[in-house]
Amino acid sequence: MMTPDRAPRLGLDAVHHIRVPRAVVSDVHDQLRAAGRHHREAVGFWAGVQENAVFHVHAGYVPKQLAGEMDGGSLVMVDGDELFRMNVWLHEHRLTLIAQVHSHPADAYHSDTDEEYPVMSRVGGLSIVVPDYAGADFDLVSAAVYRLGRERDWRALSVEDTIALIEIVEGTR
Ligand SMILES: [Zn+2]
Repeated sequence: MMTPDRAPRLGLDAVHHIRVPRAVVSDVHDQLRAAGRHHREAVGFWAGVQENAVFHVHAGYVPKQLAGEMDGGSLVMVDGDELFRMNVWLHEHRLTLIAQVHSHPADAYHSDTDEEYPVMSRVGGLSIVVPDYAGADFDLVSAAVYRLGRERDWRALSVEDTIALIEIVEGTR
């Protein structure tokens, strides 16, 4: 993921606007929904290119994953090999992650596990939780959106802040 030949990039916390094509949103969301039909949580990612304060999402990525249960709650895991594969893919396509998106069986919120073990770990990155195993179409109002702060604390964004930050672009892009 290192690009020593380039000037240092601004961090993701400099991003004030994220443009994500509807097709990418739907691609990831459909895969979350497919897992949900089997009562499994699932996680996917939005990847793209940062241009100063604007982040252009170009692709979705859904790694191989394992869904399971722990302490009565469900969770989804991506092992190290799969994370490595994703990082290679990102590097080859010159993309970086801006958001992880995962489903919950019912309510959308950040669980303790979500707080402690995010894949998205860069300051300024987003973690988006969708309710009801992604059964309904994705929308920014019913999703719970968190952003990683400089103190490595996940901050819940209000619906207003979410809508100001994320723009779903209709059409192919
Ligand atoms: Zn969760």
